[in-house]
Amino acid sequence: MRTIELGRMSWEEVAEVRKADPVVLLPVGTIEQHGPHLPVGSDNMVADFFARKVAEATGAVLAPALNYGCSDVFRAFPGTLSIRSETFKAVLRDVCHALFDDAGFHRLVIVDNHGGNETHVEEVARGLRRERGRQTLIGCLYPWNLGYAVMREVYPDAGAVYGHGGEPETSAMLAMYPEDVQMQRARKGGYQPVRGWTMRGYTKVAVPGYRAGEGSLYLDADEVAPDGVTGDPMSASAEYGRQWVERVVGFGIAYVREFQRITAGG
Ligand SMILES: [Zn+2]
Repeated sequence: MRTIELGRMSWEEVAEVRKADPVVLLPVGTIEQHGPHLPVGSDNMVADFFARKVAEATGAVLAPALNYGCSDVFRAFPGTLSIRSETFKAVLRDVCHALFDDAGFHRLVIVDNHGGNETHVEEVARGLRRERGRQTLIGCLYPWNLGYAVMREVYPDAGAVYGHGGEPETSAMLAMYPEDVQMQRARKGGYQPVRGWTMRGYTKVAVPGYRAGEGSLYLDADEVAPDGVTGDPMSASAEYGRQWVERVVGFGIAYVREFQRITAGG
């Protein structure tokens, strides 16, 4: 294969490459604020870095990314460019149909690096499976979430630093895109009370007398965390970021190899 990127292949090359029935990686993200110190394209940048590394190591084909997603909760922060879930699902569905029915690929792993897309990605994938039958098996990887899972024991107290625009996101960005991380703008984040409610997330509230359990309240993120940050980016380091890349990309490679092995030959 001359290149792993579908967008850089000619149609003849795509026809040649598809004969080997490769797994296709489709990065999906969004444009949304990640605090005063990280770019609004962070979800996409990380999805691209991750998918590229995984494709290089596994021989998967990297499809052009879908960089717009559903980030309604961050709408008040300049630079957040959110699209409606109906639009997102329609575009994702059409791109998947084109990959399967026009380009002739059979094996697809979506790299969705934004939580607000998760339920929509699942709905589209399940819809395609209902239409096409159970042979259609669509995988998904969520790099940010993998990072939260595999970095926990690296920090003295992960719960105190984890968060949107906090850790381990800031460290991961320091390792991948150091020139785009502005640590001089970084500030510790957290949830502030809104109209007397004690917040446990942008849309999650606690009630007195219960240490566990939470109710939902559909607020905008800037009401809850004015800087757009939860957790603590101040404890970020390039060394944590290096470990993030090693562990998260390592998991991604292992997952795609397993997907290739199990779905080989149909
Ligand atoms: Zn996101």
